[in-house]
Amino acid sequence: MALTLFTGGTIAPSGVLQRQEAETGPPLTALAVRDGMIEAVGVEALALASRADETVDLDGGYLSASFADGHAHPLLGGLEEMGPQIRSCTSVPEIAEAVRKWANAHPADDWIIGASYDATLAPDGVFDAEWLDAAVPDRPVLLKSWDYHTVWVNSAALRAAGIDRSTPEPALGRIVRRPDGSPRGTLMEAGAIDLVLRVAPGYSLEDRVNALESATARYAAAGVTWIQDAWVELDDVPAYLTAASAGRLNARINLAFRADPQDWTNQPPGFETARRRIRELGSPMLTANTVKFFLDGIIESRTAFMLTPYTDAPGEAGLPNWLPEDLHDAMARFDALGFQLHLHAIGDAAVRMALDALEVVQRRNGPRDRRPVIAHLQVVDPNDIPRLVKLGAVANFEPLWACADDVMRLLTIPRLGNPRAQLQYPIASLAKAGVPLSFGSDWPVTGHHPLPGLATAVTRQTADHLPAAGWIPDERVDIETALAAYTSGVSYQAFAEHEWGTLRPGMRADMALLSANPMQVQDDRLADIEVLGTWLAGRPTYLQRSRAEKLPTGPNSVT
Ligand SMILES: [Zn+2]
Repeated sequence: MALTLFTGGTIAPSGVLQRQEAETGPPLTALAVRDGMIEAVGVEALALASRADETVDLDGGYLSASFADGHAHPLLGGLEEMGPQIRSCTSVPEIAEAVRKWANAHPADDWIIGASYDATLAPDGVFDAEWLDAAVPDRPVLLKSWDYHTVWVNSAALRAAGIDRSTPEPALGRIVRRPDGSPRGTLMEAGAIDLVLRVAPGYSLEDRVNALESATARYAAAGVTWIQDAWVELDDVPAYLTAASAGRLNARINLAFRADPQDWTNQPPGFETARRRIRELGSPMLTANTVKFFLDGIIESRTAFMLTPYTDAPGEAGLPNWLPEDLHDAMARFDALGFQLHLHAIGDAAVRMALDALEVVQRRNGPRDRRPVIAHLQVVDPNDIPRLVKLGAVANFEPLWACADDVMRLLTIPRLGNPRAQLQYPIASLAKAGVPLSFGSDWPVTGHHPLPGLATAVTRQTADHLPAAGWIPDERVDIETALAAYTSGVSYQAFAEHEWGTLRPGMRADMALLSANPMQVQDDRLADIEVLGTWLAGRPTYLQRSRAEKLPTGPNSVT
């Protein structure tokens, strides 16, 4: 079996180079890989040099355990590439122009479908069909907002869906209307969105497989080798199976099937069948070990479930998606079937509801190593922190959200009011209390690249480094903690801490080559570190172009 020696750079000995180790011992400069596994590190690896079949020159870079994304939506992110690129648009005319260009370049497309626009670009998130009619008058246009809970359509799409003045208001949805009752062009929540989705063309299997391939290639280029897909419907499973069996996944994915508050009693057989089919496929790239529960919504639309009412809407405290008894029964059921539980909880009442439910599960089903994940944790009542420790919950944060950007300043803080707004994203408090941390991106909600997230966790600053002292600076974490949360922290979440997430002999060679050692870079330069190469089980899934030319093995995919 071939032996590959990686040398000429710095090796992080256990994924994260502990400051102590860095100061006491000489830096490790070599790592040997055989058959996808790390065989030796440091002098032991150098001793194998004469027997190496090939050598990879690290060029003075920093070889780290690769990153892993503890919560993301790679299929949705990949599908966004198949329509007009509107995510970075900063005005309505800019979006309309991007849509017009796309439509002109794709004359054969019956519908123009895109995601995901910035909903703050129009007052109250209400967008007008006429703004799109000017760009595309003849074909339906359907654009999803960044949270996927609202769509903006043109008049042709309203006509195709048969939505007009006489359309009754749907259950669980809202058609925004003009004073005369005719639809404006903005449809909110599933009940209204489905009116148009049911006539729009869906994505084909090939579209979805392409989306998974390109999404995972993007992840590989960001140094990521494992992704928790945090929302999978059974309809999506064939695309994952096809992509995995055709060797078209460039990162491992673990699926979390979404538990439906209305239909969960019927879901277990389908989830078990899908899990079995994925196990039978035997691909190391795909698992389906998890079930996802949305406990609440988001603060910006006042759907996050809060312990006390919103400051700017004293009659509202948000909307839990589950009745507590149903949640307890559903979580206990899926836990008994051996699934890991992954809980979306944004508001402090949702976090408490999650903890209460996890206690019930533990009581009913008895102790076992279950590592439930509570994701997002935007507002946490300090009294609940010790309960996270007691229940063995993994806290999954999206570190990019922990800064005072426009959404935070203009939408979030006014809803929460102070001092409650100061309780947001208590990453350092949870770390100090001993809660295992994992980081994620929630891509495509926010960018998938770990390095800007690491920078934000360490500085609590926006991309333009504001404020100077950081936002809620007590909740900053050091770079060692942040790196661990994006590497070994996620491997712990994935029950894989003995397989990947650190660079030690016997572990899989899942590695990312960085342009600089994050421990030696100024905090405000962390986001500038480049990923030069990514290896999954010793095989390159990404090599920066200049390296791809130099290295003996060709890249699997270069984006
Ligand atoms: Zn998500």
